[in-house]
Amino acid sequence: MLSGLTVAVIGGDARQLEIIRKLSQQHAKVFLVGFDQLDHGFIGAEKLKMSELPFEQVDSMILPVSGTTDEGAVATVFSNEQVLLEAKYLERTPAHCILYSGISNTYLDNLAKQVNRKLVKLFERDDIAIYNSIPTVEGIIMMAIQQTDYTIHGSHVAVLGLGRTGLTIARTFRALGADVKVGAADTAHLARAFEMGLNPFSMDQLKEEVTDVDIIINTIPSLVLDSSVIVSMTPKTLILDIASRPGGTDFDFAQKHGVKALLAPGLPGIVAPKTAGQIIAKVLSGLLCKLAEEKRGMES
Ligand code: NAP
Repeated sequence: MLSGLTVAVIGGDARQLEIIRKLSQQHAKVFLVGFDQLDHGFIGAEKLKMSELPFEQVDSMILPVSGTTDEGAVATVFSNEQVLLEAKYLERTPAHCILYSGISNTYLDNLAKQVNRKLVKLFERDDIAIYNSIPTVEGIIMMAIQQTDYTIHGSHVAVLGLGRTGLTIARTFRALGADVKVGAADTAHLARAFEMGLNPFSMDQLKEEVTDVDIIINTIPSLVLDSSVIVSMTPKTLILDIASRPGGTDFDFAQKHGVKALLAPGLPGIVAPKTAGQIIAKVLSGLLCKLAEEKRGMES
């Protein structure tokens, strides 16, 4: 339960609604900034402008998945109001106030440092990344179906990277009947791919391994599919690159070479915003419960 905890939810998209719902269910006092066009009334939640927030009472601030822009603006899907996250506001919060964001940037990192408040980047957590791999793989399957005229079953698929998302992708495509090979640099990941009955290959062999593949799914956030690799592919190859911007593909070269390559950012929020919101809400609620306990401890 979050009774006694005051949380400000600052901007965001449909995913934030699941967070607000969970906070309200758990009896947190919730202030909403950047939600003036939202019809839904959440019990215990009060809509305010940024400047109206009682910062001195705020134990935690929840920012959107995207955090802020490089200028400190917070995205607000449910408002036309421009919301800026600035030091003059944050320094009024209690010293224990924690900022939660999906990802961060230099602006947000520096701001948190400047006002000496803890910033938690939720998307760096293993639990969120692994839960998120579920809607992500569903989004990749959707794209693979839309972009091809053959079944996934029986197709030749290469997954690059066997981290938290790559593992889910490789296993799911294998379960759908694809012939899956996995490219990784880490020998432990190659061993895991072998154990799973997949075909592992070292990234040093990438050029040779992409010549006969139908779909390449890249999860490595580094330029791995460069011109020297793409040139070995046939135009039938489809690249679905989910790595964080700018992806791991030379998209210009792929286009020149006649290989279709698509960057697919933010799949959980696109294919399953409700689930994506519930994932963040679930993890956040556990973190805030601990904060509420600590606060009760400080007060007693
Ligand atoms: P992760 O667990 O860190 O996995 C990334 C993998 O890439 C790791 O196994 C890492 O190996 C490997 N790697 C990194 N640099 C490499 C390089 N230069 N050469 C070879 N391998 C390299 O990350 P994740 O959670 O799976 O996410 C992967 C990417 O997808 C991230 O950029 C993430 O933001 C993005 N993502 C996008 C979506 C979407 O909807 N588009 C959804 C989820 C995740 P080591 O462990 O050995 O370094």
